[in-house]
Amino acid sequence: MASVGGDTIFGKIIRKEIPADIIYEDEQCLAFKDINPQAPVHFLVIPKRQIAQLSKAKEEDKQLLGHLMFIAQKVAADMKLDNGFRVVLNDGADGCQTVFHIHLHVIGGRQLSWPPG
Ligand code: 5GP
Repeated sequence: MASVGGDTIFGKIIRKEIPADIIYEDEQCLAFKDINPQAPVHFLVIPKRQIAQLSKAKEEDKQLLGHLMFIAQKVAADMKLDNGFRVVLNDGADGCQTVFHIHLHVIGGRQLSWPPG
């Protein structure tokens, strides 16, 4: 396996060097609550193997990217988001990405508005 975690703040969370409210973990990924929630439920799903951002994904990352999406809905169900939720993936500067370890935001627990800014 390539380097586990990488050197972002999320790498430190994966390696349990800093605390996070982890709500799901398996051998490929981790889900934890966002430190600055934008809704009653806001958690992140990240791979343990670092991919910096979606636009840098490679053919070999396809299975892992699919796994993240599958786990997003599984944890959303665990969090009782039965009336729907939103999955967001910010890429790069224009996408407002701030942590360069790919992550899905899962946001819900209230009526969300559309379109985003
Ligand atoms: P981005 O802007 O890259 O799409 O989202 C990064 C997200 O990570 C933000 O929503 C931010 O609140 C969250 N975040 C940044 N640092 C930490 C941290 O140390 N712990 C947790 N739980 N979330 C973090």
